[in-house]
Amino acid sequence: MKKLIESCEKYGFNNYTRFPVVFERAEKGYMIDVEGNKYLDFMAGIAVNSMGYDDDNFKNVLKYQIDKIIHCSNLYYNEPQVRAGELLNLVSGYDKIFFANSGTEANEGALKLARIFGKNCKNGATKIISFYNSFHGRSLGALSVTGQTKYQKDFTPLIPDIVFANYNDIQSVEALVDDDVCAIIMEPIQGEGGIIEADVDFAKQIRQICDEKNIMLIFDEIQTGIARSGKVFAFEYLGVRPDVLTLAKGLGGGVPVGAFCANEKFAKLFTPSTHGTTFGANPLATCACAYVLEKISKPDFLEDIQQKSAYFISKFEELRKNNPIIKEIKGKGLLLGLSIDESMPVGDIVKEAFANNLLILSAGNNTLRFAPPLDISKEKIDEGFSLLEKVFSKF
Ligand code: PLP
Repeated sequence: MKKLIESCEKYGFNNYTRFPVVFERAEKGYMIDVEGNKYLDFMAGIAVNSMGYDDDNFKNVLKYQIDKIIHCSNLYYNEPQVRAGELLNLVSGYDKIFFANSGTEANEGALKLARIFGKNCKNGATKIISFYNSFHGRSLGALSVTGQTKYQKDFTPLIPDIVFANYNDIQSVEALVDDDVCAIIMEPIQGEGGIIEADVDFAKQIRQICDEKNIMLIFDEIQTGIARSGKVFAFEYLGVRPDVLTLAKGLGGGVPVGAFCANEKFAKLFTPSTHGTTFGANPLATCACAYVLEKISKPDFLEDIQQKSAYFISKFEELRKNNPIIKEIKGKGLLLGLSIDESMPVGDIVKEAFANNLLILSAGNNTLRFAPPLDISKEKIDEGFSLLEKVFSKF
């Protein structure tokens, strides 16, 4: 294992801080390293491995597709793309889907759609309102709307005409709205920022501003979408539909795929050569996507997530009773967070969990983040909480 890590360090850029483990495979809720050590997975590759690790149908569908064709380019049509498009249209209600390769690229496309909308439909408006504490990705465009200077500071100047409001503070949004605003981009739950949910009233007021002022509303559901929140999309909790919806992470169940969805009114602004991607919508990626969409559309699937979510929350409440450093329990579905007292760096808790063979995440403002595979069993949840009790006993 040590040798593999050294080689990885030797040839890889030095831009990740990693745990000293080399994973080889995964099964029954565990990630397993090259020496056979098992780690219980409460993070699903950062909210990606939505189908878990034991869905043989998923694996077989992918193998079957690999045998047929992996990639063919967007110069031609392919069948899995049609299936994925139809299903995404069915579950989301949006007329048009553009498949990309990652969350960042999905947002990048949505931002380009906002700018072309401003140019063509709003007298050349270019300004985009985003929110402090948000996370939208790492390309210069997506980074420009990411409201955290720690990610932006080394890459200035970023793209112009981006302004930031305070999340859940409608007055701070109103203060920024003028005729030059073409779009507002927000996460319905700020994930990386610390599992902070948008207030229903706030989201409704944002929708109203966008309707009144002819502003495109973009929801970034890259982390929250595709059943992670216990509903197919987190916007369902808010009763607010965005004009443009961006997706990735769980959408391919581990195969890299992103997407943005819009209705014809906006989608028609992209004409040939305005936007494109070599890999996007390739048959392997869209085959994965079609499988995931079919599975999450089954009636019991969301119900099961809601039940597990309630179970997780009841276990968190028990844990909090004995551990006053746990302040708040946050989140929806299987995207959950625990606010930890400021005196205790969450990074240390994540490390202690790792030392106890439990994989969890941190997020934003001293929050522990939990995003297990969506097929996690009750038994594995219990096992994870026994480990968490051990972990918290050290703090
Ligand atoms: N948007 C949100 C809400 C995210 O959580 C992330 C990743 O964490 C991204 C965008 C960027 O996605 P990706 O890492 O696939 O580019």
